[in-house]
Amino acid sequence: MAELLQIFVRSPGGARFFTWEPPTNETPVAHLFESLRLEYPEAKHGPIDLVDESSGKMVSPTLPARAVDNRVLAVRTRYITDAVAQADALQKQEGSAFDYNHEPGASTIELVFRSPGLDRVDSLDGSGVVVKGHHRAMLILPGDFPAKPPHILWQSSVFHPNLSVDLAVWPPGYDWARTPSSLGLVGALMDTLSGANVRISGRFVFWRRREINRRAAGWYRTNRRGVAALAAWSRYAAEAPIAGYPLDSTEVDWELRGELSGTGSTVFLSRRAIAGMPEFGSRGAAWLIGQKSSRGQSDWLYVDRLAPGADQGSPAPASAVGVLLGPTGNGSVTEQYVSLPLRARVLDGNVVLRLNSGSDDLTGFMVEAEEFASDERVSSTTQSIGHPITIRGPSPQQSDGSGGADEPESEAEVAESVEPEVADRLFPRDLEAPVCMYCGIVCVRSEDWGACPDCGFVVHEECLHQLGGCPNTDCPRSVLKSQPVDES
Ligand SMILES: [Zn+2]
Ligand SMILES: [Zn+2]
Repeated sequence: MAELLQIFVRSPGGARFFTWEPPTNETPVAHLFESLRLEYPEAKHGPIDLVDESSGKMVSPTLPARAVDNRVLAVRTRYITDAVAQADALQKQEGSAFDYNHEPGASTIELVFRSPGLDRVDSLDGSGVVVKGHHRAMLILPGDFPAKPPHILWQSSVFHPNLSVDLAVWPPGYDWARTPSSLGLVGALMDTLSGANVRISGRFVFWRRREINRRAAGWYRTNRRGVAALAAWSRYAAEAPIAGYPLDSTEVDWELRGELSGTGSTVFLSRRAIAGMPEFGSRGAAWLIGQKSSRGQSDWLYVDRLAPGADQGSPAPASAVGVLLGPTGNGSVTEQYVSLPLRARVLDGNVVLRLNSGSDDLTGFMVEAEEFASDERVSSTTQSIGHPITIRGPSPQQSDGSGGADEPESEAEVAESVEPEVADRLFPRDLEAPVCMYCGIVCVRSEDWGACPDCGFVVHEECLHQLGGCPNTDCPRSVLKSQPVDES
């Protein structure tokens, strides 16, 4: 009992040094974390990590004090737990398009993308380029992160000028010095995968770094319009378009924050949009993705979600209704923002909105209330009166203007429209359980399958519907709808 344990703790940046004397050998390091919280409050410093200086490894809060006796632990802010928190914030905005995995203590984060990107397959005639909806990469955080950027190792087969399996990749044009945020970086990586930050004015530009797949570069150059169109809807389409005036909706309840002034547009924020603003706003500028419309004399704006990257110099997506200013907020209203009607910033944790047409902050705005479970919405749409919010992905049948845009299309209807044409052709089928080319998931029930009437490409019915076209880019029904463009 005579000997007291001693654990040495170095402050972030190393300017200060503490010792921690735990009451017993078995006291978990979590107690040290609690003491450090007083010194480095979460609101100001974000999540903190403790790193064993001799091994460079993260120290788990559940470890007993004796396991780290006489060791030097470095306090790290803006480190791995913080990067994981950013991945989580991004996931909440991107929904099913992005997910991540992180093992406690590991300095890597696995990134999972369930959004359209291109790949090559050998079994098809023609170019063999298909749209695939499942991709993976690994974010590897170096010991001196975030002073140094993460490494990104691409892990799934892909057909892209700047991405390749088993190679270190980087989103073209992403400036880590300007936005040292893993949230922004992963968002840019998603843009890269989709083709959204492909620049198509004049010649196809491959930014500062050279393409790592020249064959893909040639293909993207030829098909740049189709790629850009696919990227635009897959990255920036508003997922939950609002039909009619939001306050007329019977599907969503709105709460007023503050007071409406009666002049200018009324602003409506989704739950995820307002919840994500403090985290996003502390990292960099973000696009406010949504829609704008009017009823009678009054205009309204709806913000569905946040998308990082507004400080990377790219033009605003078509669905952007505003910008969330980053931490350097005040002076950074650049030209690309001026045409957007709404400007948001976070002051002391509170969201402050301003219309570009006005010189004062808004006195009030509407926020989606916690009334309906999201999975109830789709099914109850048909019984509602007025103008419901319909939630669905884009599909070419809808954009062809087939009318009835407010009626949700049932899956049975989609199946009927496809099957009569399929009936007069035979397509080979494997006896083994097949894997959907788009989502990569095995399908065991044949009724879940849909075949493209033109090329016979077989994917889940649900995936065909979600994608809104055929994943085979050589098919007349390809989701890359526009014709190949000549380079001239
Ligand atoms: Zn599928
Ligand atoms: Zn097809």
